[in-house]
Amino acid sequence: MLIQEHLTLREKLEILTDAAKYDVACTSSGADRKGKKGTMGSAVPAGICHSFSADGRCISLLKILFTNECIYDCRYCVNRRSNDVVRTSFTPEEVCTLTMEFYRRNYIEGLFLSSGILHSPDYTMELICRTLWKLRHEHHFRGYIHVKAIPGADPALIEQAGFLADRMSVNLELPTAEGLRTLAPGKTREKILLPMRQIQRGIEAGKQELIPYRRDSAFVPAGQSTQMIVGATPESDYQMLSVAEALYQSYGLKRVFYSAFVRVNDDSLLPALPGGPPLLREHRLYQADWLLRYYGFQAGELLSEDRPNFNVLLDPKCDWAVRHLEQFPVEVNRADYYTLLRVPGMGVKSARRIVEARRHAALDFPDLKRFGVVLKRAMYFITCSGRVMMPFRQDQDAIAASLAGEERRRAWEIGEGNAYRQMSLFDDFHITVPPTAEDVSGAVWGVM
Ligand code: SF4
Repeated sequence: MLIQEHLTLREKLEILTDAAKYDVACTSSGADRKGKKGTMGSAVPAGICHSFSADGRCISLLKILFTNECIYDCRYCVNRRSNDVVRTSFTPEEVCTLTMEFYRRNYIEGLFLSSGILHSPDYTMELICRTLWKLRHEHHFRGYIHVKAIPGADPALIEQAGFLADRMSVNLELPTAEGLRTLAPGKTREKILLPMRQIQRGIEAGKQELIPYRRDSAFVPAGQSTQMIVGATPESDYQMLSVAEALYQSYGLKRVFYSAFVRVNDDSLLPALPGGPPLLREHRLYQADWLLRYYGFQAGELLSEDRPNFNVLLDPKCDWAVRHLEQFPVEVNRADYYTLLRVPGMGVKSARRIVEARRHAALDFPDLKRFGVVLKRAMYFITCSGRVMMPFRQDQDAIAASLAGEERRRAWEIGEGNAYRQMSLFDDFHITVPPTAEDVSGAVWGVM
């Protein structure tokens, strides 16, 4: 391990932003804190860092590792102990300087701080806590902070960080205990779930005001998230989605992020993936995740032991609808909100608008278009006052084929895009494939 002690701040920044790029658990909505005289920054509940890079990832947080040194040897990780890479660490003051300077220049709206494990989980977590404390209390930074909880660290340190950060995350990384044993021998499921449970209880206690009031701070107000790697181990989409569902239900997670496995190490235990990172699979899991969180679906409705993986040609909602034609067509002027949500091409926002508007007059297809319904998907599944939008063959194969035409184009775009690439602070920021308006609204509203 080559530890560089005399690097400039810029050199450290290059190393430690690059080392952080495989962590995708970094969106920042959920915190609401206004700026105050004598302090720097603010956090708002939505939109604080909703910029999207070419591959749809969020880019406006300063996303760094505190250190890329690590005592563990996770097979999939570029920073694992056995890799011969240049190592370095920030000091707490250096992280504060970077955050404040970038914030002042309007480059970032917050900080995403993760870390390798330096010496021990406690030692690392203590450094992270010291950094956050300095940022909040010496630099009076009120912007958004997302920080990693280090599994195995003293619960008192996790609690301290929780009162300084907006969001915390503990990465599950691999969905099964078996996967962890194989690829992350220093980690166990119990070790990861323990801080997750502590954070969940802290958040709930805060909501019920069981934690003594602390001046100007709440415990992890923007909730906690986690990340799972897709395709490093043989788990099916069904297993991954079921784990995500359990995390939402039992641990109150705000978000589960899915990260297509990128083979950065030459290791016989890692899959070869000749076709590159499984980006379409990652995309399908995100789509299904939206369905769990906002559309009232359950993992068992979308997949099963017998059908364990998503259809590559149809998004999960279209796929479900085509397999349940007996539940359609839905009459838009009568169906309840939750039934509308199950129509492909209809999102949370458009369903709400429909329910509101039809109180005043019966709706027709042009109205639905105005409300944001994607009619080229929805038309197979709805009627307006008993009429279909245009005649079509009402059988499973014909509808699936029509929907798959559109989906094929989108799948091709995912495969052909910039593949796995994270914005770097040293890039020229030329995004060659900007997200379309539909992509952005889809990402924000989850319209599927
Ligand atoms: S704990 Fe594992 S995943 Fe995290 S930095 Fe260390 S080697 Fe990488």
